Amino acid sequence: MPLSEQSNSHSAFNHIRIVLVNTSHPGNIGATARAMKNMGLSKLTLVDPEQFPSPVATGRAVAAVDILERAEVVPTLEDAVRDCGLVIGASARVRRIPWPLLTPMETAVKVADESRLNQVALVFGREDSGLTNEELQLCHFHVHIAADEQYSSLNLAAAVMVISYEVRMELLRRAAQTAPARVVDAQAIVDGVDWDVPKATGQQLENFYTHLEQVMVDLNFHDPDNPRLLMMRMRRLFGRIRPDQMEISILRGLLSHVDMLKERADRGISVDQQRQEKRAAKKDTDTAE
Ligand code: SAH
Repeated sequence: MPLSEQSNSHSAFNHIRIVLVNTSHPGNIGATARAMKNMGLSKLTLVDPEQFPSPVATGRAVAAVDILERAEVVPTLEDAVRDCGLVIGASARVRRIPWPLLTPMETAVKVADESRLNQVALVFGREDSGLTNEELQLCHFHVHIAADEQYSSLNLAAAVMVISYEVRMELLRRAAQTAPARVVDAQAIVDGVDWDVPKATGQQLENFYTHLEQVMVDLNFHDPDNPRLLMMRMRRLFGRIRPDQMEISILRGLLSHVDMLKERADRGISVDQQRQEKRAAKKDTDTAE
C-alpha cells in the first residue's frame, strides 16, 4: 500500500502544502508537480504565478497533471499560509536576516512532528530573486540546502525535490517504527512533547501582529514614522516561540484590556461605567441578530 494511503500518515501528507511564490517559468511549476507526486505530496499552492495554467507546465508535469489541476492560485504569500500552524521558507542565501535555520533533515523532522495537528507550508521563492524579507518573515523557520558555496542556488523544482524527499524519508521511517500509540495520536509533537492545542495559524498571527502594533503605537512605545526593526524583531520573537491558539487568544485578550485602559483614560470613565457600556452594546447586537 502506498505510504500516502496508510491511515496514520495520510493526514500528515494531506496537511503538507508546497507553496511557490511568483514563479516566472511555467516549466518549473510542472517539474515541481512531478517531484511532489514522486514524493507522495499533492497540495500545491501558487502565489501570483507569471504564467499559469500553461501547456509548458502541463508538459513538464507528465503524470502529475492532477496536481496542477487541483493547484490553488492566490495573490499573496499571506493568503497561502493563512491557515498554517507551521511555515518553513527555503532560502538559497542564508545571511539576509538571521532567523531560525534548519537543515532539510531537521525540516523533515519538524514537518513529520507537526503535520498531524497543523497545516504545514513549505515555501519556495522566485527563480531570479528568491523570497523577499517580508515573505521570509512570514516563515517560522528557514531551510537551507547546503549546496556547494561556489554555486548554491538550486533549480526551483530541484530544491522542492530535495526537501520533499527528506520529508518522505522521515515519514517512511516513522511508519516503519511500530509505535501505534504515537502514530494514531492526533496530537502534534512539539520539541518532543505531546502538545494539546494547535499552533496559531498564519491568519491568527497576522491579526495578533496588527493588534500588537496598534497598541504599541497607542502607548507611544512605537513610532510608525520611525519603525526601525521593531515589528521584524517582534515577528521573529513570536515566530521563535510559536504560540498555540490558546496562548494567542490570551495575548489578544491582554491587548484588548490595554485598549480598554486607554479608552477609560481618554474618556475619563470608570471600569464599572465601561463594563456597563460594553454589556449594553453586547445586548444591542444580540437583539439585532
Ligand atoms: N537567485 C535566488 C535563488 C532562487 S532559486 C536567490 O539567490 O535567492 C529558487 C528558489 O529555490 C529559492 O527561492 C529557494 O526557495 C529554493 N532554493 C534554491 N536553492 C536553494 C538552497 N540551496 N537552499 C534552499 N532553498 C533553495
